[in-house]
Amino acid sequence: SMASPALLMRVVASAYSVAEKAATIVRNVMSAGDLGIVEKAGPNDLQTKADRLVQMSICASLARKFPKVTIIGEEELPTNDVTEDLIEDGHCEEILKKPCPAQYTGIKEEELVIWVDPLDGTKEYTEGLLDHVTVLIGIAYGGKAIAGVINQPYYNYEAGANAVLGRTIWGVLGMGAFGFQLTEAPAGKHIVVTTRSHSSALVNECIAALNPDHVIRVGGAGNKIIQLIEGKASAYVFASPGCKKWDTCAPEAILHAVGGKITDIRGNSFQYNKEVKHMNSAGVLATLRNYDYYASRIPNTVKESLVP
Ligand code: AMP
Ligand code: MG
Ligand code: MG
Repeated sequence: SMASPALLMRVVASAYSVAEKAATIVRNVMSAGDLGIVEKAGPNDLQTKADRLVQMSICASLARKFPKVTIIGEEELPTNDVTEDLIEDGHCEEILKKPCPAQYTGIKEEELVIWVDPLDGTKEYTEGLLDHVTVLIGIAYGGKAIAGVINQPYYNYEAGANAVLGRTIWGVLGMGAFGFQLTEAPAGKHIVVTTRSHSSALVNECIAALNPDHVIRVGGAGNKIIQLIEGKASAYVFASPGCKKWDTCAPEAILHAVGGKITDIRGNSFQYNKEVKHMNSAGVLATLRNYDYYASRIPNTVKESLVP
């Protein structure tokens, strides 16, 4: 008989189904109408009932199946028992059938770290900009983001009642990324995507120095990586602290799986071991292609203002 699938592929296959359950929770909380908004650090740092329920669902579901994996979620929650209705025990068969890249076949549970952003783009969720929202499950090994799932619960919501709502994008380094159509941004055009609700003078100074043809301001780190891999933008530029490891882990794995690159504004790669500092203090620079073009044009004054 066939050997059982490698741990990494079982984790990704489960994370796929767990992210789909999460998307259902995100949509259900919104349609029930009571978002239960709590301010964390301030009015631009929010948590809703969806952030809370989804984190409980994802973390409890994955921990039950993979008890020795380290799981780090964004939200600080009371350690109440999670109700059974939040548990997802399914997995995606199609993912399980794919061969694990050889360099990852020997990975053990205790070597994996899963970074969970239960709802990325919370500010936009509360404002009805629903397609900015994603659910992020990033999988790290040896300090590197090696696999990830991005669910976009409201993909297609402006396409009419007959369109299928929501989608799941996933990827593994050395295998590729799936669930979307990889598209390059228009050649010769410099389209920068950046924050919508966390701007600052430095964020804008950095973008101005790149002299872009166009700037797209949207919420969510997951959403901005989707803009890159679908050719809507050529660079994600965020010269500010604020973004955390759970924002970048799944997006990084998917972007790297298709040949893109993400670093901080100074060009340093991110680390995802369990001891790492959560804050990406030196910002974000990401591209699908032409990383060096953008990196070489970030002013030194901007780099020096951001301490890793
Ligand atoms: P944005 O591009 O503004 O949607 O930010 C991407 C991710 O980083 C989201 O999860 C934000 O909540 C987070 N983030 C960025 N800047 C800040 C900030 N100043 N305070 C809190 N969270 C932030
Ligand atoms: Mg986030
Ligand atoms: Mg979040």
